[in-house]
Amino acid sequence: MARKAKVTIEKNRCKGCELCVHNCPKQVLAMSKEINDKGYFFAQVVNQDACIACRFCGFICPDTAIEIALEEPEKVEVNNG
Ligand code: SF4
Ligand code: SF4
Repeated sequence: MARKAKVTIEKNRCKGCELCVHNCPKQVLAMSKEINDKGYFFAQVVNQDACIACRFCGFICPDTAIEIALEEPEKVEVNNG
């Protein structure tokens, strides 16, 4: 089963450089049409289900605005009873 992750972007840490959007291989991220407290268009998660937990976005963000919580693969319960 593919690895999954929950991606969260702290919008007020974002400076709108778009590096994460352009380096995500699955188009999970996009720039908002709104601005944050700093006056920048910020990145947001638009397609969480497509994320493959590669963590490129987290590595590349210069402002550590992206948190990636890896999810455990679902466990298969085996009932031998
Ligand atoms: S972890 Fe990878 S697939 Fe998921 S949003 Fe970040 S760059 Fe895209
Ligand atoms: S890489 Fe970081 S600072 Fe740049 S747009 Fe993405 S979240 Fe914002």
